[in-house]
Amino acid sequence: MAAQEDKLKAVISHAKEYGFVFPSSEIYDGLSAAYDYGQLGVELKNNIKNYWWTAMTRMHQNIVGIDASIFMHPTTWKASGHVDAFNDPLIDNKDSKKRYRADVLLEDYMAKSEAKITKEIEKAKNRFGDAFDEEQFRATNPNVLRAQEKIDAVKTRMKVALEESDLEGLKQLIEDCEIADPETGSRNWTDVRQFNLMFKTELGAVSGDAGIIYLRPETAQGIFVNFLNVQKTGRMKLPFGIAQIGKAFRNEIIARQFIFRMREFEQMEMQYFVKPGTEMEWYNYWKNERIKWHNALGLGEGNYKFHDHLKLAHYANAACDIEFNFPMGFKELEGIHSRTDFDLKKHEEFSGKKLRYFDPETNESFVPYVIETSIGLDRMFLAVLSSSFVEEKLEDGSERTVLRIPAALAPVKVAVLPLVKKDGLPEKAKEIVDLLKLDFNLQYDDKDAIGRRYRRQDAIGTPICVTVDNETLEDNCVTIRHRDSMQQERIPIADLHEAVRKVVALNKYF
Ligand code: ATP
Repeated sequence: MAAQEDKLKAVISHAKEYGFVFPSSEIYDGLSAAYDYGQLGVELKNNIKNYWWTAMTRMHQNIVGIDASIFMHPTTWKASGHVDAFNDPLIDNKDSKKRYRADVLLEDYMAKSEAKITKEIEKAKNRFGDAFDEEQFRATNPNVLRAQEKIDAVKTRMKVALEESDLEGLKQLIEDCEIADPETGSRNWTDVRQFNLMFKTELGAVSGDAGIIYLRPETAQGIFVNFLNVQKTGRMKLPFGIAQIGKAFRNEIIARQFIFRMREFEQMEMQYFVKPGTEMEWYNYWKNERIKWHNALGLGEGNYKFHDHLKLAHYANAACDIEFNFPMGFKELEGIHSRTDFDLKKHEEFSGKKLRYFDPETNESFVPYVIETSIGLDRMFLAVLSSSFVEEKLEDGSERTVLRIPAALAPVKVAVLPLVKKDGLPEKAKEIVDLLKLDFNLQYDDKDAIGRRYRRQDAIGTPICVTVDNETLEDNCVTIRHRDSMQQERIPIADLHEAVRKVVALNKYF
């Protein structure tokens, strides 16, 4: 745990030191759980968006994008169920005055038992070596069985309590598990209460309740209310999808763990409209597509896990998360939900307008079913940053900090470095800058020894450094150095553009 926390701290301070992420309004001591993306952060973020947008829209002829407004008619949120049901169960500790999500306290409690099991298994693995049979060990070892029984019992009670909104039951479970305030150890809890996560604000010209509007807690509803607009104007045929990237706002009870849980964040969501009855087929299709998208980046297949939902949201008939191995453990990165026809039907009901698809083949009109994929852009940013952050010991005994960011996502693609700041080398280097700058985000750097300049580029994840030396003036060749292998090769300037393109092109991921 300590090592994991240290890793997160190291990532946060690296992100700040190199201009990826700053605390918001820092000169006023910051605002809790709000962050600003700096000069490199915005590039990384844009590249992630571009990877997602390309995968969704360009690679699928039947998916188009929109950009809906953040403010929506307030009835939208009545219809979607958010006004009545977008709640988290919260509990306060009377001694520390700290507020927690009751379900998160229980999940952390179960994770501890899970960690105990993993430890037992690791120990046994070391003891038995190749002969070790994990399945048999899990089925017979008394310590593992006891821990697993405990987890299963808590899981079942929590599921029932959440499904039945049994807040007393949740509190009882917390007491029965003897869960204490993680910060102070106190077990003096209040009752569990429901807390609505939507931010409210007021429209300028209207006073009182009539003027209340919400900051959208998800981007999805902007897609649903535009379903017919897009279907008709785009002449879309089922199945088809609408993708959107945009801000969402949730008044999270505890916002923490850096950019993992914020009150203002960005989502990349896609709603895929399908014929009723085909939804499970498409649900499985999208589970597969999405994990492929993640795995293509090469952050390590073992870093992802599917997690089926215990408690289905009010709109879903199947749902899972893709969890990622963040520095604080496996946590939700993306959700994939089969939302049935819940949203479109509700919008029909509340608006009085028909939101139907007319199938020209069968001459029937019906409300389509929906599969949703929804990923937090900020969480994806943290996944990329934390898993690519490496502190390495090199063969010569020196150390370097390197961000092994997938090349196509790297904020700076190329650094152009004249070996010395004289003899016409800077001028030659600037010619190379002009050759590349339209297509690749690059940096020109002529300060300090070349080794230090390489280190600076490693620390921000630049995949390629191009060095211009005296020979370049004669043979029109440069040395390119690769970030991960640190291998160098000499190539003609005429081949440089193509060499860089090959390394940083997005097409490797498709
Ligand atoms: P959690 O259980 O972590 O609160 P959720 O299940 O409520 O998340 P969804 O409603 O499925 O999340 O939202 C889709 C995605 O939006 C999540 O997978 C996550 O990546 C992202 N997301 C949700 N809440 C936040 C937040 N507060 N800060 C950053 N990203 C978020």
